[in-house]
Amino acid sequence: IIPFTGQIDSKERDEWIAAINDRSTQFELQPLEALSQQQKQQAVAAIVANPTDAAIQSLPRLQWIQSLWAGVENMLDADINPQIRIVRLTDPQMAETMSEAVLAWCLYLHRKMPDYKILQNAKQWKQLTLAQPKDCHISVFGLGKLGTRAALRLQQNGFTVRGWSQSEKSIENIETYSGPSGFESILALTNIAVILLPLTNNTHNLFNQAVLQALPSGASIINFARGPIVNEKDLLVALNDHHIDHAVLDVFSTEPLPVNSDLWSHTQVTVLPHISAPTTISTAAELAAHNLDQFIERGVIPDSVDRNKGY
Ligand code: NAP
Repeated sequence: IIPFTGQIDSKERDEWIAAINDRSTQFELQPLEALSQQQKQQAVAAIVANPTDAAIQSLPRLQWIQSLWAGVENMLDADINPQIRIVRLTDPQMAETMSEAVLAWCLYLHRKMPDYKILQNAKQWKQLTLAQPKDCHISVFGLGKLGTRAALRLQQNGFTVRGWSQSEKSIENIETYSGPSGFESILALTNIAVILLPLTNNTHNLFNQAVLQALPSGASIINFARGPIVNEKDLLVALNDHHIDHAVLDVFSTEPLPVNSDLWSHTQVTVLPHISAPTTISTAAELAAHNLDQFIERGVIPDSVDRNKGY
């Protein structure tokens, strides 16, 4: 028996449990609440979706947890035994879905759809100049599972693509930069900044006033990672100054975005309700079931989050 615990509604929880049980050969997944005290004492692995600290603490022998979410910053901040390894969801389907979103919203900016919407509202027939995709320089911040796939998809579409990561990378047809020195260089070359970084101590508030100012005038930003990576107040100032042309935001410091946020009605902001890459239950359940089966059969724990790095 493997426990499932998370702060999601019971309908969604039951959907996950059924999907994972359909695909597992070695174990039965049950809601944590259904386990006896003895079963809780014995559990060495669990599947979680945004669990409470208390739920994890009720499983004293846990060695590792499989999260169904890609971002794990909440769990790293939580009061849980640091010996417990955290495995996040790295679903190739999610990288596909995210790369589609990145391409879609880069095209939205490149083809000036926000400007045409304003012109339409004003009943103005006006043809704006169209740049070639190669003259649109897109920088992807974060070249992990999601960023790398997104960068390649943009490159296939003819954009000039650059990428930035912590460690050095080599990706065909993509100019890569790393670390703080690489950050300054890439910022200066960016027309569209696509943010696909994890939220860590180092990336929190990374896109602040100074960094937004280091982007060329007229640049746009797309944040599909986590809200606190971009300073919303500084962004509003940069938008109002027209230093930043447009922001496509899928994630926010507070979600749902509060009704009194100035971002909602700003003409240079596109607000999305955290939908750029939703988890696909079927493929995610397959991965989670496979990881647990491998653990039960062969004792293998998949690659886990590096607590020092924070992702
Ligand atoms: P990942 O595989 O862990 O990749 C993270 C990338 O960021 C790596 O390239 C890493 O560099 C780089 N990085 C981390 N800290 C850095 C720093 N301080 N300076 C420079 N580069 C840094 O993560 P992923 O699977 O691609 O996912 C990225 C994030 O997307 C997740 O953490 C999650 O928050 C977000 N997300 C959002 C949605 C949505 O629907 N909006 C859906 C899924 C995920 P190295 O390669 O050198 O380590």
